[in-house]
Amino acid sequence: MTFSKSKRNTIVEIFNGRCAYCGELSGALHIDHKIPKSKGGTNSLDNLYPACSNCNCFKSDKNIEEFRIKILTQINKFLNTTPYMKIAINSKIIKIKKGDIKFYFEVRNEMV
Ligand SMILES: [Zn+2]
Repeated sequence: MTFSKSKRNTIVEIFNGRCAYCGELSGALHIDHKIPKSKGGTNSLDNLYPACSNCNCFKSDKNIEEFRIKILTQINKFLNTTPYMKIAINSKIIKIKKGDIKFYFEVRNEMV
């Protein structure tokens, strides 16, 4: 989907040039439909989020809660299948904090 330069700039500026999901600062953000068009999402500004390439591709046609579950599933799979992660966790090099995945658009106001 192609958006006018003006609409695209407005969407990116709302999020201070960051990916709405991971918060990465990028000059090459995609425009993502928060609610995918395939699931009834529209092209209104409140449904359009800037997304880095990784987040946009990984989110694909998932809605926000499906995307959150997809990330948690991948994290758990990684933690449970990577022997080095068990060593890192047991050695307290890495501390796993249980909780929900929070996207940048959900926490950005707390980060100021
Ligand atoms: Zn991202």
